[in-house]
Amino acid sequence: MKATVPYIEAKFDEYNALMFDGKLEKVPIELSNSASYVGQCTFRTKRIAGFTVGRYDLRLRISTRHDLPEEEIEDTIIHEMIHCCIWQQKIKDTSTHGKVFRAMMARINRDFGRHVTISHRLTAEQREEGLDKRVKPHIVAIVTFRDGREGLKLLPFSAPKIRAWDRVLRRSGNASDIKYYRLESAWFNRFPTSAAFNVFFADMSEVRAHLEGIPPLPISELV
Ligand SMILES: [Zn+2]
Repeated sequence: MKATVPYIEAKFDEYNALMFDGKLEKVPIELSNSASYVGQCTFRTKRIAGFTVGRYDLRLRISTRHDLPEEEIEDTIIHEMIHCCIWQQKIKDTSTHGKVFRAMMARINRDFGRHVTISHRLTAEQREEGLDKRVKPHIVAIVTFRDGREGLKLLPFSAPKIRAWDRVLRRSGNASDIKYYRLESAWFNRFPTSAAFNVFFADMSEVRAHLEGIPPLPISELV
């Protein structure tokens, strides 16, 4: 089946009452056609007068690119709801799918007979079939956050846009390091390119494997 927004909203309410004691605040639900994930949580960060005032605009996205068994879609919604729970309660976890995430996941799987995993459950085959396999140039930013998490972002080939993006992220005070790479690759096609202030928390060991041997560049040499 392919999920719809009303379907996801109904599941969110159902699981919120059943698995999260009704504590989750409603989150805007969006559909996408992404080949790189089934479910994803995105948010923005904000800083006022030099102080980080937090993260905002949490959204839950489900990709309807693939026709998946209903149980997989349900488990994906639950997976993303665990992210929402940690995010909304401002819990510090050891990593994106750290100790807190895994403990919640284990409790839900045990108590409700679910099969939620830390991967987003797309099989390699499903992932590959939806991907554009042409080798293309990309500008990749690797961001290390002060809380230890790492993410990546694909940026457009525009020096002013990259500089503006870099400036805002550095001013937010949330990033402790940003490195930029320019490369030709088909693998990175799975991530969307934009100058929006969102970062993807992918499997960074896999991302790093695809950056091996490529030196980071200053912004002035990227475009
Ligand atoms: Zn996740």
